[in-house]
Amino acid sequence: MPIMSRIRKTLVVFTAFAIAMLGFQFFTASPAAADADVQARTVYYTAYAYSSQSAQAAQIWNSRVPNLNMVSRSNGTIRIYATTGGGSRAYPCGLGCATIYIDSRDIAAGHNTLRIISHEIGHGHRLPDTYNGICSYLMSGGSAGTSCTNPYPNSGEASRVNSYYAGFALKGPAPVSGGVYAPTYPSTS
Ligand SMILES: [Zn+2]
Repeated sequence: MPIMSRIRKTLVVFTAFAIAMLGFQFFTASPAAADADVQARTVYYTAYAYSSQSAQAAQIWNSRVPNLNMVSRSNGTIRIYATTGGGSRAYPCGLGCATIYIDSRDIAAGHNTLRIISHEIGHGHRLPDTYNGICSYLMSGGSAGTSCTNPYPNSGEASRVNSYYAGFALKGPAPVSGGVYAPTYPSTS
């Protein structure tokens, strides 16, 4: 076969293949585009106590994490209870799943209720405690002191959670254990 003819034939085959691939992509593009529209994952929560602060905390999380949409409903996977003693704490059961206890003694000691709830919900979004004493970190918890009233995850915390929910359909969630909100620190003096 003359060289030009061979090149022409190769081009024809390649073009046919490219068109076939385009057709395939066009066919598969629609469901993918539809998926992007419903990207935010709904996580249902139930506040058996502190309902107004829990609603505020859910709004805070929704406003900072585009891939997340927390919605109040009975029998939610994030459950918020009041308790007295033992410390405010969360028992995570996966991404978007946790049993949370808000200790009235933490509130009596001066810790901000909304920050505590928002922090414990953070454990339900797979964030661990940092306890670094920095108020701009939601997951620093009670280590930032009672004067810290910040209930917002910082950009790093929010983007981490956002990435977890982005991959929610692909990767299974892994539980993360949280400590109590305000553990007792050994004195440094
Ligand atoms: Zn914690």
